[in-house]
Amino acid sequence: MNDRNQLFHTLCKRQVRLAEHSSYGIGGEADYFAMPETAEQLMTILDGCKTYGMEYFVFGMGTNILFPERPRRGTVFISLKNFAEIRQIDGSTWFISSGLPLSMLSVAGLIWGTSGLHFTYLLPGCVGAGIYMNAKYHDDQMGDKVEKVYYVDAADPSLSLQVIRAEDCRFSYKQSIFQQKPWIIVGAEIRVPEPEAPVQSGLGGILERYKEGSGKLSSLSQFYSFFSNEVKELQLRNHAIPGQLSDIDKYRTGNRHFTSRSCGSFFKNNYAAGASIGALVDRLNLKGLAHGGAMISPYHGNMILNHNDATASDILYLKDIISEGIYRHFGFIPEPEVVIVPEDK
Ligand SMILES: Cc1cc2nc3c(=O)[nH]c(=O)nc-3n(C[C@H](O)[C@H](O)[C@H](O)COP(=O)(O)OP(=O)(O)OC[C@H]3O[C@@H](n4cnc5c(N)ncnc54)[C@H](O)[C@@H]3O)c2cc1C
Repeated sequence: MNDRNQLFHTLCKRQVRLAEHSSYGIGGEADYFAMPETAEQLMTILDGCKTYGMEYFVFGMGTNILFPERPRRGTVFISLKNFAEIRQIDGSTWFISSGLPLSMLSVAGLIWGTSGLHFTYLLPGCVGAGIYMNAKYHDDQMGDKVEKVYYVDAADPSLSLQVIRAEDCRFSYKQSIFQQKPWIIVGAEIRVPEPEAPVQSGLGGILERYKEGSGKLSSLSQFYSFFSNEVKELQLRNHAIPGQLSDIDKYRTGNRHFTSRSCGSFFKNNYAAGASIGALVDRLNLKGLAHGGAMISPYHGNMILNHNDATASDILYLKDIISEGIYRHFGFIPEPEVVIVPEDK
């Protein structure tokens, strides 16, 4: 066995419960599981999968995924949440790696004196999926911040690093070209407003502290504590905290985003319907409906919670109730935003 194959075996852990890497806390044992910390380690794993003819599934923090109870046998599940890098290329251009938490962008913005990334504060998940999903908060979305995206085309035998410009990424509401192609996002360059004050170097240990605990940050309560505490620390060290961050905190805690296990909104909104999915679920009187360990959030009709050891089937049962209700009363089938990973046959 050569060094690269040896490293592949070292990086791939055996029999890891996916529930621990998903904000739903749902998912059975993966035969193989890896958390690369660098682009080189990611490439070694992809290369090993190719050599051994193994399938793989790449994800980030697992805050927008419903894993099955019986994951597909022999598949390597690769979480990029330990591959967290950020560096300034110049005052207004940064490189960000796919495993960097989205929320770290808002913290870096506070430290480096730029305002364009506040919207990522307390937005669960990592940069790769943020680009894949074109994650948004109100009018701000990742697709508008990205200049170019570095990716690997899984269908290309050479697995070489490629680059695509933002204007070719087909960004629109919760859509991007990455949902249509077998491409793995490695990182991106983003353009930020020029710093408003002299720039401080480094993130003051925040990135290191994140890496020490990142294995756990698929838990939404721990995710919230980590980032809200880091921002409080910055405030104590005389960083001005913009009002937008407090507003986001109030909005998300008010909607109980971090107190229950969920993946946020289950469905994409259909703006042609004239109302959000949450409002339609409210009109159908479905808020609070429970099945097994799952429940439609009493606070937000578009969230299906794991409130008491739910299984993937419990969640999917309520998803079907909502879909059927919306189809019968409002004439369309809502498109899930949460990625539903199929069970082994
Ligand atoms: C409480 C809560 C609130 C939320 N609020 C919002 C919100 O306001 N706005 C919003 O847009 N979203 C929101 N979300 C959804 C979630 O934050 C975003 O979808 C986020 O981008 C998911 O990141 P992740 O790393 O957890 O993705 P994962 O769940 O790990 O993956 C999601 C999908 O992306 C793919 N993917 C991940 N990484 C890569 C990569 N490197 N290359 C290619 N494909 C990749 C995966 O294969 C999967 O299909 C919320 C979620 C929660 C739990």
